[in-house]
Amino acid sequence: MEEVDCVVVGAGVVGLAVARGLALAGRDVIILDQAEGIGTETSSRNSEVIHAGIYYPANSLMARFCVEGRRKLYPYCAEKGVPHRNCGKLIVATSEREDAMLAGIKQRAEVNGVEGMRVLSREEAIEMEPNLACTSALLSPSTGIIDSHAYMVALQGDAENAGAVLAIYSPMTGGRVVGRQIEIDVGGDDPMTLRCRLLINSAGLHAPKLARSIVGMPAERIPTEYFAKGNYFTLSGRSPFSRLIYPVPVPGGLGVHLTIDLGGQARFGPDVEWIDAIDYRVDPSRSDSFYAAVRTYWPGLKDGGLQPGYAGIRPKTVPRGAPGQDFVVQGPQTHGVAGLVNLFGIESPGLTASLAIADHVLEVAATG
Ligand SMILES: Cc1cc2nc3c(=O)[nH]c(=O)nc-3n(C[C@H](O)[C@H](O)[C@H](O)COP(=O)(O)OP(=O)(O)OC[C@H]3O[C@@H](n4cnc5c(N)ncnc54)[C@H](O)[C@@H]3O)c2cc1C
Repeated sequence: MEEVDCVVVGAGVVGLAVARGLALAGRDVIILDQAEGIGTETSSRNSEVIHAGIYYPANSLMARFCVEGRRKLYPYCAEKGVPHRNCGKLIVATSEREDAMLAGIKQRAEVNGVEGMRVLSREEAIEMEPNLACTSALLSPSTGIIDSHAYMVALQGDAENAGAVLAIYSPMTGGRVVGRQIEIDVGGDDPMTLRCRLLINSAGLHAPKLARSIVGMPAERIPTEYFAKGNYFTLSGRSPFSRLIYPVPVPGGLGVHLTIDLGGQARFGPDVEWIDAIDYRVDPSRSDSFYAAVRTYWPGLKDGGLQPGYAGIRPKTVPRGAPGQDFVVQGPQTHGVAGLVNLFGIESPGLTASLAIADHVLEVAATG
């Protein structure tokens, strides 16, 4: 049986950021992913937005790691040549009732440490974005967009330069706690068993299932997994806006918003569709609700302008209707297993927060 220092399961953006952090700290790291390459699941099925940190409850891990992660991410992208743009975002009000809500959103953002938020009059907003219909807006200047794949390649490069090794087509199929070490069964074409001192479960949508497959991991600490799919519709032609455009949030979601990619293509979404099993197909009939929602702030949207795009799935730890969830980072102090860190519910803003999550995982790992 091979002995290794650290194993990170999952080569999504979070697993790669953690592997990079461990490798730079001088640890020997193997990254296992069951797929054919890095970032084939949620990390390549998202909005690619660098979030400011506006809506999350004060002091939540999401609020802390989003703001901290963003402050690390912009300089990292600049240093590594990762394509990104600090384009800013407008949250748009379309009624007097919504005008009144913007001040509350601004205040929550400021409590979270978000810089530069500014309420704009209708005229100021329309001067910035002439195609917009609104009664007022809130500008978030620190929001941006990023090429998530290029970012993951940069993280992988850093990790490998510091000695980490990536093994693709390498599913972890189970494991067991053996004293202060963990034994890991790896499937694929070349099955093997590894013994490690530190195991990071960064398996995204599969993290609860992976935790359940480890004999010795207390089952009562493992959340049930729930899946909330987010469907996107893309717009043909160039984006009518140069900033991201979000409606005032609705209970339970951010509303149908417009994001743009670095190529200038606009997409609307993600919506929220609770599902029982992973399925990335986009049902074209869901576009009906998109047209009505988008036209409240962009009346110029033409019939037939939206095409089914792609979908991503949010790894939820709470069921539909339950109060919002936070990131869950469980170390030995929580579950009692030495050398195991589980990451559950790493939904948005996990991409933005990835460098801060990685720092936190290293701290949690050092506790036992
Ligand atoms: C619709 C949507 C929109 C989003 N938009 C944004 C956004 O704009 N900005 C933002 O900051 N965040 C956003 N997010 C959140 C962000 O995409 C995620 O938080 C992030 O990608 C999670 O990365 P991860 O590494 O935890 O998981 P994943 O990317 O899912 O990676 C998990 C990896 O584990 C591997 N794996 C699973 N099981 C095993 C096993 N047993 N053995 C080996 N490998 C295994 C998988 O193959 C996969 O590669 C969005 C999320 C969704 C769903």
